[in-house]
Amino acid sequence: MSVRQILKYPEAAHILKSRSEPVRLGDPGLGQVIEDLKDTLLATENGVGLAAPQIGVLKRIFVLRKEMIRKDLPKDSAVLKPKGEIAVFMNPKIIARKGSIVFGEGCLSVPDRAADIERAKTVKIRALDETGMPFYEKMGGLAAIAVQQEIDHLDGILIIDHPAR
Ligand SMILES: [Zn+2]
Repeated sequence: MSVRQILKYPEAAHILKSRSEPVRLGDPGLGQVIEDLKDTLLATENGVGLAAPQIGVLKRIFVLRKEMIRKDLPKDSAVLKPKGEIAVFMNPKIIARKGSIVFGEGCLSVPDRAADIERAKTVKIRALDETGMPFYEKMGGLAAIAVQQEIDHLDGILIIDHPAR
């Protein structure tokens, strides 16, 4: 297990502003990246999510802390099914969006800043879980907002890159 350093803007802008590559199942080192993302997120005080580029790995993976998003998901959610406190999303894609909401967001890579960002209120996503199994999930609330911020990270977009509101 290892808790990695969370890269910060602007020092690590060159990495945080890069686009991440799709995960290839069977990549050596993939399991380690997933474990490090989990350990690093759990070591934060109140982080909801963490994306691989935030620990310097340009792969399309992010993790969310289940306890923070449980109420935004159906009870039998595919996201909650695997064991452990952290949900893993690989090669995530938003396949439907509905409505809009403005929420004051923070980011572990942009300390001491909050940004009011307009996002879709509910999203349906497709991703691979930790074992490489594809799943679909519809979510709203904080889960939807977090997923959108994490996918932004995979595209090299930070909360400060959104238009000021
Ligand atoms: Zn973030």
